Amino acid sequence: MPARAPLPAGNGRPVKAKRVSSARERAQTCSLLPTSAPRLREAALLAVDAALLAGVLMRTQEEPDASEMVNYAPFTLLPSAVPKALFEQAYAVQQDFNLLVDAVSQNREFLERTLASTIKVDDFTARLFRIYTQVLEEGLAQSVFLGINRSDYMIDCAVDGTPALKQIEINTIAASFGGLTSRTPAVHRQVLKVLGKTEEASRLVTNNPSQGLALGIAKAWELYGSQSAVVMFLVERVQRNIFDQRCVENELWNRNIRVIRRRFRDVFEKGSLDDARRLYIDGQEVAVVYYREGYVPQNYDPQNWEARLLLERSRAVKCPDIATQLAGTKKVQQELTRPGMLERLLPGRAASVARIRETFTGLYSLDLGEEGDKVAAKAIAAPDHFVLKPQREGGGNNLYGEELRHVLEKIKDSPERTSYILMDKIKPQPSKNYLLRPHSPLKVSECISELGIFGVYVRQGKEMVMNKAAGHLLRTKAIEHADGGVAAGVAVLDTPYLV
Ligand code: ADP
Ligand code: MG
Repeated sequence: MPARAPLPAGNGRPVKAKRVSSARERAQTCSLLPTSAPRLREAALLAVDAALLAGVLMRTQEEPDASEMVNYAPFTLLPSAVPKALFEQAYAVQQDFNLLVDAVSQNREFLERTLASTIKVDDFTARLFRIYTQVLEEGLAQSVFLGINRSDYMIDCAVDGTPALKQIEINTIAASFGGLTSRTPAVHRQVLKVLGKTEEASRLVTNNPSQGLALGIAKAWELYGSQSAVVMFLVERVQRNIFDQRCVENELWNRNIRVIRRRFRDVFEKGSLDDARRLYIDGQEVAVVYYREGYVPQNYDPQNWEARLLLERSRAVKCPDIATQLAGTKKVQQELTRPGMLERLLPGRAASVARIRETFTGLYSLDLGEEGDKVAAKAIAAPDHFVLKPQREGGGNNLYGEELRHVLEKIKDSPERTSYILMDKIKPQPSKNYLLRPHSPLKVSECISELGIFGVYVRQGKEMVMNKAAGHLLRTKAIEHADGGVAAGVAVLDTPYLV
């Protein structure tokens, strides 16, 4: 059952409309859906086995603490169409975003001004900010900086149907799935072959973000300059997604770099700094701390906050340091869209600024005052055009539609309003696919996708010594879910099929 092609543009339409419809058409008519039920079942059975063989793995909900029982990480049966030009645009802007995040992280005046209203009402951001100020006042011991981020986009078709790449957010801490996503192209290639689509199978691009991430970590480790020091992955108590992290870890072991996995609690109990603020844990010096947790309030109790402070005060390379974590807040994202802001943060880089701005959609401050009042009134009048976002990561926190209206009406005159920002809702073109999840029936879903590009950079003092786009991640979910990622059980892993 091929997806229906859109109606052709009427005769005598302007040239632009014709070009637009052909771009949409390409995305819609390249349906890879199987046409027979037995073929579909055969492909789905093979897909699951291929995923298990390729290592697209997750620990199970039932046994999240052990690898004795694992299953496949959820993924799409078929790759999803992504316009090639927009895919390339997303790659082309990644080094610019790396520069921008790094610039924001070094700009105390900008961070203070931007987050001033937020930290009055948002306790989590306020606590991060306190550590940020405290370490600056003491003076930074860290001189090598490592950024690993993922800039996420959807392809908007809202205005006149012209597909446009629009940024959802940039994740500057614990950006995940760089490991597992490198293993999905092989699975999808095999599925397409089973479906008799050998030519299409050859069009799936290979991708290895975990290698790029590891190269960044290895460079930071090298510049730290102690052969015997280790890389510490700071991990959560429940580690269902451990295989994704192991991909990066293995790349480091292959380069003879020792990796240890520890929790905040271990740091609290056994971590210490020497006179030069070198970080030690269990007698081992730590060169790089790679956070795979620490981005939500639930990750912290009073002892964990103390551990975080100890890490931030240390000379070790934190990925990210606390300033870079703050640079990834939704409030910062919103302030970056103000006219002239990018120019101020990236002076002399007009081309970078233009590429970045091209990916922005409308973002609005809800700070108390006339500007915020107008924005709130607009959103209450047309909630379906917006997304209301608190300063949280990890999916499932945003508000849409009637719920957005209800919450905004309730808080529109209270300072609580300033803990949120408002964003234009991006409206991608849905397409049909099968979302494969353990113990779920095989059924077709209307889906939308989100493309992420991994960025890696290393700075030593003032000098950028590495700045790269390190690969991509495509996640797809059924349209009935407004929010949520793979870890939240909503989206699944996918592979872009360039059209
Ligand atoms: P989080 O930090 O929780 O991942 P995001 O900003 O990425 O926050 O939002 C979570 C999800 O909500 C996204 O993956 C996307 O599916 C949806 N979403 C966020 N912003 C928008 C938007 N402007 N338009 C449409 N959907 C959005
Ligand atoms: Mg997100």
